[in-house]
Amino acid sequence: MVSRDRSTPTRGPGTWRKQTTCCGPAQRAAGHLVEVGRGAGAPRREGSLVVNQTPTPRPDVLDRAHDARALFDVLVAQGVRGEPATRAQALAVLGTPDEDLLDLVAAAGRVRRQWFGRRVRLNYLVNLKSGLCPEDCTYCSQRLGSTAQVLKYSWLSTEDAVAAARAGIAGGARRVCLVASGRGPSDRDLTRVTAMVGGIKTEHADVEVCACLGLLREGQAERLAAAGADAYNHNLNTSEATYADICTTHEYADRVETVERARGAGLSPCSGLIAGMGESDEDLVDVALALRALGADSVPVNFLVPFEGTPLAGTWDLTPQRCLRILAMVRFVCPTAELRLAAGREVHLRSLQPLALEIASSIFLGDYLTSEGQAAQADLDLLAGGGFVVEGADGDGRAAAVPGEPTTTAVARGAGATSGETGVTVRRRGPGTSVAPNA
Ligand code: SF4
Repeated sequence: MVSRDRSTPTRGPGTWRKQTTCCGPAQRAAGHLVEVGRGAGAPRREGSLVVNQTPTPRPDVLDRAHDARALFDVLVAQGVRGEPATRAQALAVLGTPDEDLLDLVAAAGRVRRQWFGRRVRLNYLVNLKSGLCPEDCTYCSQRLGSTAQVLKYSWLSTEDAVAAARAGIAGGARRVCLVASGRGPSDRDLTRVTAMVGGIKTEHADVEVCACLGLLREGQAERLAAAGADAYNHNLNTSEATYADICTTHEYADRVETVERARGAGLSPCSGLIAGMGESDEDLVDVALALRALGADSVPVNFLVPFEGTPLAGTWDLTPQRCLRILAMVRFVCPTAELRLAAGREVHLRSLQPLALEIASSIFLGDYLTSEGQAAQADLDLLAGGGFVVEGADGDGRAAAVPGEPTTTAVARGAGATSGETGVTVRRRGPGTSVAPNA
């Protein structure tokens, strides 16, 4: 029964009060309501049923959405021409409200598809030398003074490094990243790494090899290039203005110099950032613009994994939505760069990883340097579910998605140990252990 109270509304449109005139006591006890001064679009109640009507548009929301779409249209037009976002535009992207987040992802996705289509490149990390670093980068579990219970070992043999790379390549990786802790390589270290590069290239000439060995001195990038390395990674990590807050043993300028040395030697410059260290929006935009200015071909975006035993332990500042905004900002600032979802994607993006892949074009397969990633099969399921194309895979490269087949997208843990209450799983498999790698 619906009964409209014709008396003067006292509580505004769309409000309700108990029926007082035509229901019996039982109905009143059941809480039957009558509508008082309903406005257009408010729900209508019929007996115990609430009937939804078309909601009233909110002009403030429409205006904001209109402004946001106008900005996104400009960013897409620039991005498909390979033109970077301005500083003001990049800051506006980071300020996008949650209500407009899917429009932002769609816009960044249009730029991504312009340059990379639906393809995803898989990268594989081989940690050649773990822990015991003399540098003091606050975010790093391998830093001087770190009490994080990470694996610590000296240089892998060439055979072990090539075997680890082989496992990643068999899993679908098309770039292998050879990483060593430390301030930078000695010439003897470089001799080891050039042998590893040669060993991998002999077996897999079509697979890219990227070295990441810290600060390079004069002539070292040339040696890597001569050995067949394709790229060199050295992240800027954060803005110049805040670099001293995250490291005191070397400077931002040292990192810039190494990226320039790598590029000067003909190596593809790979350099990225870490988000979630307490930086401001301005810092994130500054580092993205600096990466663009340096000509970084590939840009890893890391989300802080705050290990227990490091100064940033317990720093969980990121939300999945914030991560998407950061990725979109980097995509618009560096529209043609290979944008890589790097460390922390599983724990920070969580169920929004598929949306992140609409923006990024590359991920690490398997584990990270000192923490475990989700199971390699879960990564492949993720790509299949999103309809992405794995670069270099057989056939058309499309990961096989079987309708209705259950997937394993939950993080599958290896033998790793959870670090305190953080949920970070310390790597206990792959290089430096006797346990099979996650690939
Ligand atoms: S980021 Fe590199 S240089 Fe810094 S502490 Fe970690 S391993 Fe050492």
